[in-house]
Amino acid sequence: MLTLTPQRYQAIKTNDVTQDGRFYYGVKSTGIFCRPSCHSRLPKQAHLVLFATATDALQAGFRPCKRCRPTGNAVSIADWTVEINQIMINQYQTKLDLETLAQLAHGSPFYLHHVYQQQTGQTPMAYLKQVRLAQAKKLLQTTTLPISTIATQCGFQSAAYFSTVFKQVYQQSPRVFRQKNSRT
Ligand SMILES: [Zn+2]
Repeated sequence: MLTLTPQRYQAIKTNDVTQDGRFYYGVKSTGIFCRPSCHSRLPKQAHLVLFATATDALQAGFRPCKRCRPTGNAVSIADWTVEINQIMINQYQTKLDLETLAQLAHGSPFYLHHVYQQQTGQTPMAYLKQVRLAQAKKLLQTTTLPISTIATQCGFQSAAYFSTVFKQVYQQSPRVFRQKNSRT
């Protein structure tokens, strides 16, 4: 791993092509790595990990960015879909919408939506809802947290919205589900 010097951070910030090949940067919150010149959104410094080679980044478990192709090979649609899923699994607790997801996955919202649906048969936002609901179910069963807290922790805008979505999918309210299935 390399140190994040102010010069290197500057290179990432300015998409400095002259630094390509000298180092690569991984973003911990997405698991994706890039060349310095990549025109992706500037990551927070705390999320950055620097590598001397693309191989080092791969060995550390990072996946190549679809946009800047740091390994020199195109990233397949299938691999990109895995990356997109990973981002949703890591960040379902945050206010993640299609726009933000596309920024994090280094694609345009329209393209991401299209490709994802083609690959998986469902929209990325439908998958995100599944991830959030699965986590909410787990918390309802295994904790005594208030339902409003569970809603927030699972990325729902409000408790009311969470209840509506939950009822749509499971035909019962979170409260009733908890009464029947609690393991606490
Ligand atoms: Zn990139």
